[in-house]
Amino acid sequence: MTVMIAGAGIAGLTLGLTLHELGVPFHIYEATETLKPMGVGINLQPNAVRELFDLGLEAELSAIGVRTRQLGFYSKLGNTIWEEPRGQAAGYSWPQFSVHRGALQMMLYHALLARAGDSVLTTGARAAGYELTDHGVTLLLDGGRGAQGNLLIGADGIHSAIRAQMYPGEGAPIWNGRILWRATTQAPAFHGGAAMAMIGHDHLRLVAYPISAPDADGKAVINWIAEKQFDPGVPRNKESWNRAADIDDILPDFADWRFDWIDVPALITGAETVYEYPMVDRDPLPCWQDGPVSLMGDAAHPTYPVGSNGASQAIVDARVIGAQMLTHGATPEALTRYENALRPVTTAVGMANRAGGGPDGVLQQVEDLCGGEFTDINDVIPQDQLAAHAAKYKSIAGFSIEELNARPRTIPAGTRIN
Ligand SMILES: Cc1cc2nc3c(=O)[nH]c(=O)nc-3n(C[C@H](O)[C@H](O)[C@H](O)COP(=O)(O)OP(=O)(O)OC[C@H]3O[C@@H](n4cnc5c(N)ncnc54)[C@H](O)[C@@H]3O)c2cc1C
Repeated sequence: MTVMIAGAGIAGLTLGLTLHELGVPFHIYEATETLKPMGVGINLQPNAVRELFDLGLEAELSAIGVRTRQLGFYSKLGNTIWEEPRGQAAGYSWPQFSVHRGALQMMLYHALLARAGDSVLTTGARAAGYELTDHGVTLLLDGGRGAQGNLLIGADGIHSAIRAQMYPGEGAPIWNGRILWRATTQAPAFHGGAAMAMIGHDHLRLVAYPISAPDADGKAVINWIAEKQFDPGVPRNKESWNRAADIDDILPDFADWRFDWIDVPALITGAETVYEYPMVDRDPLPCWQDGPVSLMGDAAHPTYPVGSNGASQAIVDARVIGAQMLTHGATPEALTRYENALRPVTTAVGMANRAGGGPDGVLQQVEDLCGGEFTDINDVIPQDQLAAHAAKYKSIAGFSIEELNARPRTIPAGTRIN
C-alpha cells in the first residue's frame, strides 16, 4: 500500500508529514531538482496553524514566522476603514502566522526528512500523468519513468499535470487583469510590528505585513504586494511565481502614498528583487477524483491570494485526507469523503474571492462611495456592516472563532492506521 504524492509544495509536504504520523506508506515526487526557498510572504490562518501545531511543529513555525495580531483596511489616502484583531488577539486558541513561503516549505521539508528519512521523496521527478491499473494507479513521470501505488494525490500546484489529465480541455489559468508585484524590504515596522495592512482599492492597492520581528532600530522584513488593474483582454506574461519585474512599472502610481505610519514609495524602492505575478485562478471543478486519484491544494482549488487562504487550505486538505484515511483506510472511499467535506468550502471561497466578497471587498466599496476621503468612516459605511462582512468571510473559509475553537482535533493525538 503506497500513496503517491505529486509535488513537494506546502500541500504535498504536509500530506507526507500527516501520512508518516499515521503510519501510511507514501512517496513524494517533486519536479524541481533541488528544493529552494522560493516565493515571498504568505499567511497561515489559525485553522491551518492548529494543524501544524498538532503535527508537533509549533517551535519550528515560531522560529520562522510572525504571530500576526491585526488586519487593517485603509483608503488610498491612508484613512482607516476597518481594523480587527487577528489570531490569538482575536480570541482564537491558535495564532495566525505571517511567514516567508520558502521558509515554510523548507521547514516542512526538513521536518519530513528528519522524521521519515530522505527515501520518501524523489526530486527531479516531474509528473506527466497517470494510468489506472487493476491494483491502483501508475504515476507517469517525465523521461518515460513510472511508479506504482494504490492512490495518487496531485499536489502539483496551479499548473497541475494530474488535473490537466482529468480535465484536458481546461487550458491556462484565468487572469482577472490585475498584476501583483511582490517583494520584501527591510523597513520600519508599523502598527505594533505584527499587523497586516491593505491600502487602496481594486484598481490600485498595496498589501504589507512583517515576516520578521523588528530589529533594534524598529525595522522588520516587510512583505509587500502592489497590485494594479489592467485590461484583462490584453495578454501579459505567462504566470510564473519567479518572474523578476521592473519597479518603474509601478512606482509612479504610488508616488503620493506616504502616510505617517508607512512610506509606500520607500518600501518599493528598498526591495532587492521584485517579482511580477498575474492575479489568476481557475473555475471550480465539479469533481476532484478519478478512482484512486485525487487533487489537493492549488491543483484542486487555486484562488486569488486575497483572503490569505491558499496555503492554509492546502494544509487543511492534507489533514482532512489523513482523517478520512483513519476511518476508511488509504482507499478511494477516503478520497471521496475528503472531497465531499472540502470541495463545497473551497468552491465558496474561490467564488467569494472573485466577486469581491473576500475581506478586501470593503476597499472598493469605500472608493466608490467617497473616493477614500472621510473623517469618520461611520459616515460612509457603519461599523456593524464592516464587522458583519469580516465575520462572513471567516465563516465561509472555515475559520470562524467559536466554531474553530470548539471543533475537536482533525486527527486525534497518537492515532495510527494499523
Ligand atoms: C516557487 C513558488 C513560489 C510561490 N510564491 C508564492 C508567494 O510568494 N505568495 C503566495 O501567496 N503564494 C505563492 N506560491 C503559491 C503557494 O505556495 C500556494 O498557493 C499554496 O501554498 C498552496 O500550495 P500547493 O502545495 O498546493 O502548491 P505549490 O506551493 O505551488 O506547490 C506545488 C509543488 O509541486 C511542484 N510541481 C509542479 N508541477 C509538478 C509536476 N508536474 N510534478 C511534480 N511536482 C510538480 C512544484 O515545484 C511545487 O513544489 C508559490 C508557489 C511556488 C511553487
